[in-house]
Amino acid sequence: MTKPKQTQRSQERTHRRGDIEEKVHDAYQPLKKPKEPVVCPDCHAVYSDGRWQWMATPADAAALPCPSCQRIHDRFPAGYLELGGDYFTEHKDEILNLVRNDAEHALREHPLQKIVEIEDHGTEVSITTAELHLARKLGETVQHAHKGDLDVRYSPDQTQVRMKWRR
Ligand SMILES: [Zn+2]
Repeated sequence: MTKPKQTQRSQERTHRRGDIEEKVHDAYQPLKKPKEPVVCPDCHAVYSDGRWQWMATPADAAALPCPSCQRIHDRFPAGYLELGGDYFTEHKDEILNLVRNDAEHALREHPLQKIVEIEDHGTEVSITTAELHLARKLGETVQHAHKGDLDVRYSPDQTQVRMKWRR
């Protein structure tokens, strides 16, 4: 059996559960890889060797926004992390510092792991990320350091994650 040709239309999605060939496509991850080298005009990450990385911009690089800057521009996060609870309210500064440090560290390693926004609603804080592994990482860091309950839910197509941490 030959594999059907991959569609290059990014908005097209097929999701056949239980099927051997389960093709799920994130609109922010083009099926067709960009022609290298490419530089993101917003964050200056370079797409090279099949991944976005921090490196000097090659002279012949074409400009193309990275998926995370595109999500930030569209205000369409991939990761959501809500922090709340009485314990959280008491330790808010400490926990948010931990989250910020962890996010800074992640961004140094992975150009796509960007925070979209940290919204402080007083007793609750919601953090959105442009890349879903970052939300997951931040939630796990908080739980690792402060225990509590972490609820993780992926969207059916696995392109978004919603997490709630409570203590
Ligand atoms: Zn970028």
